[in-house]
Amino acid sequence: MKVLVLNCGSSSIKYKLYDDDQQLAEGLLEKIGTAQAQLNHTVILEHQAGIELILKALVDPEKGVLTSIEDIQAVGHRVVHGAESFSESTLITPEVVAKIEECIDIAPLHNPPNLAGIYSISYLLPKVPQVAVFDTAFHQTMPEKAFIYAIPYVFYTRNHIRKYGFHGTSHYFVSHEAAAILGRPIDELKLITCHLGNGSSITAVDHGKSVDTSMGFTPLEGLPMGTRCGDVDPAVPLYIMGKEELNLQQINALLNKHSGVLGISGISNDFRALEEEADKGDKRATLALEVYCYKLKKYIGSYIAAMNGADAIVFTGGIGENSDVVRELVVKDMEFLGIELDADKNHAKRRGEAGDISMPSSRIKVLIIPTNEELVIARDTRRIAAAN
Ligand code: ADP
Repeated sequence: MKVLVLNCGSSSIKYKLYDDDQQLAEGLLEKIGTAQAQLNHTVILEHQAGIELILKALVDPEKGVLTSIEDIQAVGHRVVHGAESFSESTLITPEVVAKIEECIDIAPLHNPPNLAGIYSISYLLPKVPQVAVFDTAFHQTMPEKAFIYAIPYVFYTRNHIRKYGFHGTSHYFVSHEAAAILGRPIDELKLITCHLGNGSSITAVDHGKSVDTSMGFTPLEGLPMGTRCGDVDPAVPLYIMGKEELNLQQINALLNKHSGVLGISGISNDFRALEEEADKGDKRATLALEVYCYKLKKYIGSYIAAMNGADAIVFTGGIGENSDVVRELVVKDMEFLGIELDADKNHAKRRGEAGDISMPSSRIKVLIIPTNEELVIARDTRRIAAAN
């Protein structure tokens, strides 16, 4: 079955076309909403125009991979927030669209572009079944003690404020791949999956189920990230707002766009640049790497405590898959927990390569597993479209 996978962000559309598990094409369309948005040199001002151009490119006689647009049998969408309404991927019906629209209130940046993709396909390919795959769904198995914040309970019941968690599709994918590498069924395993990219999150996966994760009500909580602050004392933004006379929008931008390793280093949100500057002796680049890795180490310790052990720690995402420096800083000096990194294997891993980088004697294995969220979306879409 040929499935088009769409990941519609606020100003970009990433797409991949699959025939069963085989990827036929992929592309990225950027800067939607600005005059610089280009695919084949055409100005694109909104998502529907962008998707029309993607469909055209897929059937282009020279560069395309399809003979007709009718060959697309289903479309899968990444949808960021499904709140408590969705614990698994689902066929998109008018009722489902209405529920995703209800979530706009708690995901104002993410769900509107995802919906724009759904509306566009409904218009452009009205007969093709569409499936929504949610970033939050995998984490719906978290117990209440892990997702309730210690604020008045009425904010949960009335305003739906709780920890939701994100990157669920990636944590799901790499935990299943880890079980395959370890040669054991997932329902026997305790795993800690670290998705480290521009956004970073860590999840405790107990017997295949997410039981805790670092991102929260929004993707701002948890680990420090490229430009996001992660956990800070909640009094800090209040204090800064008062001192600097910042409004809500400004403090939001400060915590989301100017913090994280960029904020600490003053250099970059890109770990390649930070590692380079740290090598040259830049103190704040070194500090940014140390803060990031120390926080991750503490989360790993807390998830080992939460699950009463762990069989493996998995690194994925642009940083997790590529940075031997980060992996080493995170797991070194944890021998007392049974974690022993093989430094040679850690350095030798090449991009896109999966494998075990721990010593044979390591009680907790350390794995690198390239993530593939689009493949999960394509598989779920195929399964759900075929059953309907
Ligand atoms: P996203 O979260 O947007 O999907 P990725 O998972 O692709 O992002 O991660 C992108 C980040 O990965 C970059 O910002 C950079 O910090 C980091 N990265 C990519 N390649 C390397 C590398 N070779 N060494 C260290 N960090 C890298």
